Amino acid sequence: MAAQAMESLAAPEVLDVALIGGGIMSATLGAMFARLQPDWSITLFERLDHLAAESSDPWNNAGTGHSGFCELNYMPDPDDPARAAEIARQFRLSREFWNTLGNQDFVTPTPHLDVVFGARDVDYLRARYKTMTALPAFEAMEFTEDPEQIAQWAPLLMDGREPGEPMAATRFEGGTDVDFGALTRLLVDGMKTTGTQVHLGQEVIKLRKEADVWSLTVRDRTTKRRHTVRARFVFVGAGGYSLKLLQRAGIREVDGYAVFPFGAQFLRTDNPDVVARHQAKVYSQAALGAPPMSVPHLDKRLVDGTESLLFGPYATFSTRLLKHGRLIDLFTTIRLRNIAVLLAAGLQNLSLVVYLLSQLVATRRRKFAELQRFYPSAAPADWTLIQAGQRAQVVKPHPGKVGELTFGTELVTAADGSIAGLLGASPGASTAPAIMADLLGRCFPARYPEWEPALRGLMPTLPPSNVEL
Ligand SMILES: Cc1cc2nc3c(=O)[nH]c(=O)nc-3n(C[C@H](O)[C@H](O)[C@H](O)COP(=O)(O)OP(=O)(O)OC[C@H]3O[C@@H](n4cnc5c(N)ncnc54)[C@H](O)[C@@H]3O)c2cc1C
Repeated sequence: MAAQAMESLAAPEVLDVALIGGGIMSATLGAMFARLQPDWSITLFERLDHLAAESSDPWNNAGTGHSGFCELNYMPDPDDPARAAEIARQFRLSREFWNTLGNQDFVTPTPHLDVVFGARDVDYLRARYKTMTALPAFEAMEFTEDPEQIAQWAPLLMDGREPGEPMAATRFEGGTDVDFGALTRLLVDGMKTTGTQVHLGQEVIKLRKEADVWSLTVRDRTTKRRHTVRARFVFVGAGGYSLKLLQRAGIREVDGYAVFPFGAQFLRTDNPDVVARHQAKVYSQAALGAPPMSVPHLDKRLVDGTESLLFGPYATFSTRLLKHGRLIDLFTTIRLRNIAVLLAAGLQNLSLVVYLLSQLVATRRRKFAELQRFYPSAAPADWTLIQAGQRAQVVKPHPGKVGELTFGTELVTAADGSIAGLLGASPGASTAPAIMADLLGRCFPARYPEWEPALRGLMPTLPPSNVEL
C-alpha cells in the first residue's frame, strides 16, 4: 500500500478532486463525485491508518440518525418546528441516498423516544407534540403521560422508579441507529471501483493556491517524507482540523473564525440481560447551562453485529481538536483576528463554562446518578466509561455580539468554488448527503444543472436548484 501510495503521489498529474480526511463527509462527497463524474481523478488522504477513526467511528458518536423527532435541542420553543422540520427533510435525503447503496447493514431500525420529568417539561413535551404532529413529516409521532405505556415502550425507564413524579414521553417507531463508520467504509469501497485512490497514514500539512490549481503538501506519518500533489478542487473534510487547514489555505471566508473543543464520554454496557430490555434511543432535556448537544440519551447500539447500550454524553475538555490530535491543536487555530471573537463568545457563555467545570469535576458516582435518573435500577458494575469523539464547535464573528459560539454544522465554500470545508458537528453525519448536494451547487454552479438529474435519481426529494428553502 505504502509503495503504491508513493508512486501515485509523485505523479505529475493535476487531480480533479483531493479529499482531505477519511470520515463520513469526504466519503459522501467522494461517492457523489464517483457517480456524477466517474471519469474524474479523485484522491482521498487520511492521516490515520484507518478510515473513520475519528468522529465517524461508531463508538465516537451516538449513532443517532437525526431526523428531528427526538432531539429536543432542535426545538427549544415548542411552537416553532422549523429547525426540526429542516432536519427531517435533510434526513429523508440521507435515507434516499443510502438506499442506493444496496447493503443496508449500517442502519438499524430503532424507535426514537423522548422522556421528560416534572410538570414544566411535561407541558413542554405535550405542546411540542401538538405542534409537530400538525406537520405531515411528524404525524407518526405518539405521545403519552401514562407510566404503563412508557414502561411498554422502554421498560428500563420504569424499572424501580418511585411513583408520583409527572412524566411524559413521545415515540417515533421509524427511528434509526446508524453505524457511520461502516457507512464510510462502504462509500469508500464504492469510490474505489471507479478509480478513487485512497492514501492512509498521509497528512495534508500545507495548502497553497498556484494560478487555478491547489498545491497540497502531504506528509507520510511513518516515513516523515513529504510529497506535493496538485488538485483543481479540494474538500477539507478533516473534522476538528478543518478550520486549521482552511486558515492555512488563506480562505477569506473563515476570517475571524475560531473553534472551541468539546469532548464527550459515554457509559456503555454489553450485559446481554440489560441490553435485551431496551430497544430504543431515548432522549431528554439538557441540564441547565449544558450545550445543546449534551442532551442526555440512553441508546440501543448495534456495532459489528453486537448490541450494546450507551448513555451520555458527559462533557470533557482537552485542547486537542481530534481524539488522536495533539495538545497544541487549539493554539494553532488562534489568530490575531479571532482572539476577540473567542473571548466575547466565552464571556457570553459563562453558564456553559460553569457546566463544563461541573462535568469535569464530576465523580463517577455523580455521573452514574444521571444514568439512574433515566434507568433507576442501573447497576454500576454493568457500565464502563468510554471516551468518545472530540467536537470542534465553531465560534464566529457576530456584528452585534463580536463573537458567537454555534452548535451546528457549517459548510464553508471559497468564492471561486475551488475549495470547501466542513466545520462543526451534529447533525453533520446524519445530514451529510444534503450538505454535499449543497456543496455541489455552490462550488460547481456551471456543472450543477448537468448533474441535477443524476442527483435527483439518487435523492428523489432533492429540491430543484432554483427553489429557495
Ligand atoms: C460525541 C459525539 C456524538 C455524536 N453523535 C452523533 C449522532 O448521534 N448522530 C450524528 O449524525 N452525528 C453525531 N455526531 C457528529 C458526527 O460524528 C460528525 O458530524 C461526523 O462524524 C463528522 O464527520 P467528518 O467526516 O467531518 O469528520 P471525522 O469523522 O472526524 O473525519 C475527519 C477525518 O479527517 C482526518 N484528518 C484530519 N486532518 C487531516 C489532514 N490534515 N490530512 C489528512 N487527514 C486528516 C482525521 O484523521 C479524520 O479521520 C457526534 C459527534 C460526537 C463527537
